[in-house]
Parts: sequence; structure tokens; C-alpha cells
Amino acid sequence: MTAKMLGFVTVGRQMPEKRAAEARRQDFDEIFRSYAAERAAEQANRCSQCGVPFCLVHCPVHNNIPDWLKLTAEGRLEEAYEASAATNNFPEICGRICPQDRLCEGNCVIEQAGHGTVTIGAIEKYITDTAWERGWVKPARPKRERTESIGIVGAGPAGLAAAEELRRHGYKVTVYDRYDRVGGLLVYGIPNFKLEKPVVERRAKLLAEAGVRFKLNFEVGRKATLDELRERHAAVLVATGVYRAREIQAPGIGLSNIVPALDYLTASNRHSLGDRVAEFEDGTLDAAGRRVVVIGGGDTAMDCVRTAVRQGARSVTCLYRRDRANMPGSAREVQHAEEEGVEFQWLAQPEAFLGDEAGRITAVRAQRIHLGIADATGRQTPQPIAGAHFVLPADLAIEALGFDPEDLPAGLGTPALEVTRWGTIKLDWRRMATNLEAVFAGGDVVRGASLVVWAIRDGRDAAASIHRHLMAKTAAAAAVAAE
Ligand SMILES: Cc1cc2nc3c(=O)[nH]c(=O)nc-3n(C[C@H](O)[C@H](O)[C@H](O)COP(=O)(O)OP(=O)(O)OC[C@H]3O[C@@H](n4cnc5c(N)ncnc54)[C@H](O)[C@@H]3O)c2cc1C
Ligand code: SF4
Repeated sequence: MTAKMLGFVTVGRQMPEKRAAEARRQDFDEIFRSYAAERAAEQANRCSQCGVPFCLVHCPVHNNIPDWLKLTAEGRLEEAYEASAATNNFPEICGRICPQDRLCEGNCVIEQAGHGTVTIGAIEKYITDTAWERGWVKPARPKRERTESIGIVGAGPAGLAAAEELRRHGYKVTVYDRYDRVGGLLVYGIPNFKLEKPVVERRAKLLAEAGVRFKLNFEVGRKATLDELRERHAAVLVATGVYRAREIQAPGIGLSNIVPALDYLTASNRHSLGDRVAEFEDGTLDAAGRRVVVIGGGDTAMDCVRTAVRQGARSVTCLYRRDRANMPGSAREVQHAEEEGVEFQWLAQPEAFLGDEAGRITAVRAQRIHLGIADATGRQTPQPIAGAHFVLPADLAIEALGFDPEDLPAGLGTPALEVTRWGTIKLDWRRMATNLEAVFAGGDVVRGASLVVWAIRDGRDAAASIHRHLMAKTAAAAAVAAE
């Protein structure tokens, strides 16, 4: 390895500092790339190519994992990329943020045998990041253009995956979103340290290059109703996600500095994107120097605690009413949070929020819990232990108890849209179809809060179903015309 590769660049006196810094960065990238290539091939080589690929079965988009691992091990990266992109619209995003321990990697046969999983997600990310660098990732180019247009409500992963698939078939696609950026929770929910925003932005750009039209700052239900969109388009896909935060009921909840998780994370993401966020700048949604208590045990709670650590919080505690084994969040995320210094208070829930004369939170009084008998779903119910309390000093509390759908029929201005008793859109799952003619749905809005990879799967399935629906309609019209 040369001195140059080790990062010792000989900088001539006349070389401007900027150029020297750029040279150092390029050297670092070069070393990193060669190391990453070696590591990816070494890991891919560990795949036993077993006859029953449980990894593939447990991947929601059924990626052909053993195939692209073999191609990576053989150094055939472009083919590996093509195999991986054939089943997944955003493999580099899934490689970064799928909870692999619950999906592909958790079911790897080598992991089951106790030898540690093949790092499938990291390899998937490596393959597609390399494909971007080398210019192999191209905008969808349809073989023929079609006259029908499709409206998609929601520019999250479900809407975007559907948009790409429908463009491949040649449809005109317009995506409406109430936000000012494309990506949904990929941009404003998931923190930058898990998913860097340029990774999402380059996908949005690629879709625009493929001919997808984006109408941003366009809230369906306010600027146009769903019924009005149905008149403009041959079919409509609703992929609006779930955004109504579940709330804590406890004395003192009205104190200031008790904030919903998504407000906190969105402010942090907007700030890192360079937006001016008044509530971040005035300190309301910034954890720097504060004692932070996060309430909840899912992935959103883990994102909050880890964001607070990065913002320079004085202390960060996570309060969860069940134990570690019963946490809904990824075990890996908990481990990362612990390594970063987050304290976990298992089997505890807030009993009251205490405040000062100015109405600001000063502490959380917590109640100890034990897990009682299982309910109808099989989960043990949390039971308060009488007289067991403790107090956690806090000057910022973050509620991360999960999300429910908003009132969709009212919100979208279409009262006839049927929903389930949980408020999600009622679906004929075989066709991804709602009760309204030519209206389809997918992603969190039909599943409840779920995962990016499931949203991608739904977007792909909905696009295939929309295509079948329109082809059948065209065939029926041709048959009538021929009579
Ligand atoms: C904090 C947080 C962290 C997460 N971390 C992970 C993770 O690490 N890994 C993982 O797999 N999953 C994670 N998830 C879950 C994942 O983000 C979601 O499952 C996924 O984004 C759902 O995709 P979607 O397209 O259905 O909805 P969304 O991503 O929510 O996108 C919906 C879009 O619809 C738009 N919209 C809503 N209503 C309207 C309207 N009336 N008019 C126009 N536009 C509208 C919204 O603005 C939004 O852009 C996380 C979720 C949160 C909240
Ligand atoms: S999409 Fe997710 S579950 Fe599937 S192989 Fe990639 S990381 Fe694993």
C-alpha cells in the first residue's frame, strides 16, 4: 500500500488547501471502496447457496439473494445489481434500513447454525451504491408510451415504487404530495444517520428523468378531492401513510416540552437539510444539553433516542412498559442505542409529568410494571405494581407510541371510501383495490405503521394490478367496438 493510499498526500506549498482536502477525500474513498469490495466479496462467499433459501422467503419483495450473493462473490457486480434491482425499486435504501435481523438475515441458515449471518443488507447496499457510482442505474424507459394517466397520492416508498413500475409500462404518472419534498417518511421520519437524504434525492431525480410528474405542496382533500382526481386519471393509487400520533393520557401532559416523536424527528431532518425550523432554532425541538426521556419501545423511539444523543443531550432515557424481549423495535437498534449511551428503563410507564411554575416539564414520574397473563393476541398485558414508582428528571419528553391512520374518507374528501375498524383503507388484497372503481391503495395506509420494504412490495403489487385493470378495460372496449 502506497503512502498515497494511506492518505499521506504530498501537498506542494502552492497547492490550495481546498484541493488538498479534496485529494485526501478521494484517497480515503479509494481505500474505502477497495476495502468495501473485499469485504462484500468475502461476506457474499460465505453464503452456502443452501437448497431452501429462507432469506428469500422472509424478504417481503422476495429478492433473489443467493443469486446476487454468488455474482458478488465472483466479482460480477453489474449482473448482481441487475438481479437485485429486478425485484426491488430501492435496494440501496432497504440495504440501509430494513430490520434485517427480523427478515432476511434473521432467517439465514448460517445464522441459524450459530455462525453469524451473511451480512445481506450491507451487500445489497454496496452493490447498488456501486451501480450508482458507475452509472448503471438508469431511468425507467418504457418500450411504448400509453395514453392513460395514473394519479398517485403520496410520494413515500409505496407511491414511488408504483410510479416507477407504471412508467415502465408507459403510463403517464403524476404523484401528488402535501410535503415540499419527495420521499415521505424516508425524508422526514427516518433520521439522516440511518438514511442519508441524498440517497433519497437521487431516486426522486431519477423518477423525474423517467417522466414522472411531481405535484408537491398539494394536499389531496384540500386542493382537490380524491373524486376529482378520479375524473382526471384512468386510475388512482392512494399511498398516504399513517400520521396520527397515539397520545399519552397522564396528568401533566399539557406541560411544555412534551413533544410528539414525528415533530421532533421532522425538525431534525429539516434542519439537516438546511431548512430554517423556528422550533428547532428556539430550542423547543432540539435536545442539545437537555435531559431527554423518550416514551415507547418501537423503531421510532429508537430513532428519537439516537437523534437526541447526536444532538448532544445531557442524558437520554427510554421508558418502555414491557421488557427487552417484548420490544416491538429491532433488537439491533436497541443494541446500537445502548452502545451510544442510552439508558433503558424496561417495565415502566409514565404515571405523571411534573413541571415548574412556568409550565415546563421538569420530571417524569414513572410506574413500575410487571407482565401479567396473555391477552387474546398472545401478548402478556402490562400490570402496574402498586406503590412502585420512581422519578426521572427531564426537560424534554418525547412521545413515541406509534401512529394510526387519519380520518381518510373525510381527509380525502371522499366519504364513500371504505375503511377498516382500525381506520386503514379496506382492501381487496388480491387486486390491491379499494371499494371505489379504479382506486387502489398500498403501504402504511392499508397495513398500519409498517416497513419501507413492505411499502415497496405494495407499490409494485398495486402497479401490476392497475396495469391488469387498464389492459382488461382496453380489451373490453375493443371487443365492444368490434361487435
Ligand atoms: C420515525 C420513523 C422511523 C422509521 N424507520 C424505519 C426503518 O428504519 N426501516 C423501515 O423499514 N421502516 C421504518 N419506518 C416505517 C416506514 O417509514 C414506513 O413504513 C414507510 O415509509 C411507509 O411508506 P408509505 O409510502 O406507505 O408512506 P409514507 O412514507 O408515510 O408516505 C406517505 C406520503 O403521503 C403524503 N400524504 C399523506 N396524506 C396526503 C394527502 N392528503 N395529500 C397528499 N399527500 C399526502 C405524505 O406527505 C407522505 O409523503 C419508520 C417510520 C418512522 C415514523
Ligand atoms: S429488501 Fe430488506 S429483507 Fe429483503 S434482502 Fe434486502 S435487506 Fe433483506
